[in-house]
Amino acid sequence: MIPLKLSAIADFCVGQLVGNDLTLDKVMTDSRADCSGALFVALVGERFDAHEFIKTAENQGAVALMVSRKVDSQLPQVVVKDTEKALGQLARFVRQEVNPKVIGITGSAGKTTVKELVASILRLKSTAHKENVLATKGNFNNHIGVPLTLLELNQEHEFAVIEMGANHKGEIAYCAGLAKPNVSVINNVEPAHLEGFGSIEGVAEAKSEIYQALGENGTAIINLDCEFASKWQEEFIDCHKITVSRHKDAHFSANNVHLNSEGLVTFDLIKRHLTGKDSITVTLQLAGLHNVSNALVAAAICSQFEVELSTIKQGLEQAGAVKGRLNLITGQQGCLIIDDTYNASVGSVKAAIDVLASKEGESIFVFGDMGELGSESERYHREIGTYAKEQGVEKLFATGTEVAHTIEAFGDGGRLFADKEALIAAMKAQLDSTQIILIKGSRGARMELVVQALQESQ
Ligand code: ATP
Ligand code: MG
Repeated sequence: MIPLKLSAIADFCVGQLVGNDLTLDKVMTDSRADCSGALFVALVGERFDAHEFIKTAENQGAVALMVSRKVDSQLPQVVVKDTEKALGQLARFVRQEVNPKVIGITGSAGKTTVKELVASILRLKSTAHKENVLATKGNFNNHIGVPLTLLELNQEHEFAVIEMGANHKGEIAYCAGLAKPNVSVINNVEPAHLEGFGSIEGVAEAKSEIYQALGENGTAIINLDCEFASKWQEEFIDCHKITVSRHKDAHFSANNVHLNSEGLVTFDLIKRHLTGKDSITVTLQLAGLHNVSNALVAAAICSQFEVELSTIKQGLEQAGAVKGRLNLITGQQGCLIIDDTYNASVGSVKAAIDVLASKEGESIFVFGDMGELGSESERYHREIGTYAKEQGVEKLFATGTEVAHTIEAFGDGGRLFADKEALIAAMKAQLDSTQIILIKGSRGARMELVVQALQESQ
């Protein structure tokens, strides 16, 4: 963060400073992390009240506190009405002071991927050896994560690439109100988290808050492949609009989409301008054809900052896969592992099976349970077994409780193991260089342990 005085922080958070004034450049909300030199902001959640962890924060090196009730401490404290609100006010102030070009990214799927692609391209614009791009770390994309990300801004940052997720109406409006993006995108809209939104229209409405926050000088990137695209084009008539599409004519589109001989996604990136079209061939380090769409969105965003097509290509090609999401890894005996162990929903398992089925070689699917499916769990686990068989997957090795249904639906070529150790031992006994092995399961299934055991260096 830019260095700020506590008295100034108290001013724009409408709080009261109790104790000595001092200058600091770091804000923390997690008392278990390294808080050295930081202002510790005591948030109050549904299940916790960080005012109880003040001592821990002190022991971790915090030098000042922001609290919503005065606490017994030697440290100076800024007492505010609501610490969560104050965190937002501080973030808004820092964003205004640094005034970087801000990119806001929301959507049902692919937010983190687009964010990484955009950051990879924009980092190439840096002239000196300094970090000119601030990007959301990991998945820190909610009403706490977004302000904390903005609070990391310092004067070196030319760009801030901010991921915004939502599970209820108003959350994106709040986050976008703090970040004030210059360029925003809704990557796509899918029927996810419906409990919080009521319907897919509700999801679309909530996501459109990111366009509402743009104002007249902002640019909306509109994905024409999304069913709500025309609605948004009419609704946000005042802002500048750039379109992308995999299937239609748009400012940014793709042609000749295919997997190259190494199984990587390759396509011609086409940029339309007033007098014609420019085209450049791009090969991503990512598997899965849906990444063409993510790449087009990233290209459209970066072109708003005068980045040449050749630089966009370079940035897209340098971006590695996000860990655990369709990573291609060489395994022991030269087999190819597709590591998609980050998490598993029915849709993402099917997408991963499509990637497996598109590759030449003996296809093996190593599967752990999908979690949180409630009373529908058996049905969905069966559906995956049938789907894998239909796509031509040759072997299914599984471990867990629910996957027994997958094995049953898959039929011949399926084997159920009592635990991961037994599965790993059986896999190791039959590995060879012609095999393509997709490994996937929900977070709780911890299938990354299977990836680690089968990797080349083991
Ligand atoms: P989260 O809501 O967890 O933050 P996210 O929107 O950031 O997710 P990513 O982490 O980039 O999304 O990707 C998660 C998974 O979504 C990927 O493994 C892939 O299966 C799928 N995915 C990514 N991009 C797309 C896309 N454009 N269309 C459909 N599915 C996609
Ligand atoms: Mg994400």
